[in-house]
Amino acid sequence: MPVYVPMPWQRRGGVVCACGQFDCLEVFCSGAGIAARFNTAVTAAAVVVGGDVISGVSAKEVCVWARDPDAPHHVVAAVVVESAAAALASACLSITRILDPSVIILTGPLAPVLCEPASEHYRTMQWRLHDDTSSVDLRLSTVVQPGVVGAACAVLSFQGRD
Ligand SMILES: [Zn+2]
Repeated sequence: MPVYVPMPWQRRGGVVCACGQFDCLEVFCSGAGIAARFNTAVTAAAVVVGGDVISGVSAKEVCVWARDPDAPHHVVAAVVVESAAAALASACLSITRILDPSVIILTGPLAPVLCEPASEHYRTMQWRLHDDTSSVDLRLSTVVQPGVVGAACAVLSFQGRD
């Protein structure tokens, strides 16, 4: 699924996405987005309150630091990862409302980190009009190369149309 999906809070002047829009899911949940938001926040904090200016921290490092209270910049890392999970949950809830799936499979290198907190956010975000989202699970993919398999399925699906 492309992650160039505008979030409900999309606004001009937000974080610019590679697609040219602002505040796309990509900005919040992709590895590049997580790393960029972390590095920007840590650099901005260093300018305002002092401290080490660091850059080039990878999304993988941010995710590890988010789970380790003794890690450098743990709080910033935790906020970045938590906001990624919340954005992912919001997108999954929108998908649920539009497509009514019985399950949503999360794939990619960050899915193991984001699946559980996104599921928690998802459960708290559901509408209270009726409790129909409780049966939709956010699950991790068990496919080794989900992107490749997904692309192959898209090709096969397209070929089936002709
Ligand atoms: Zn975008």
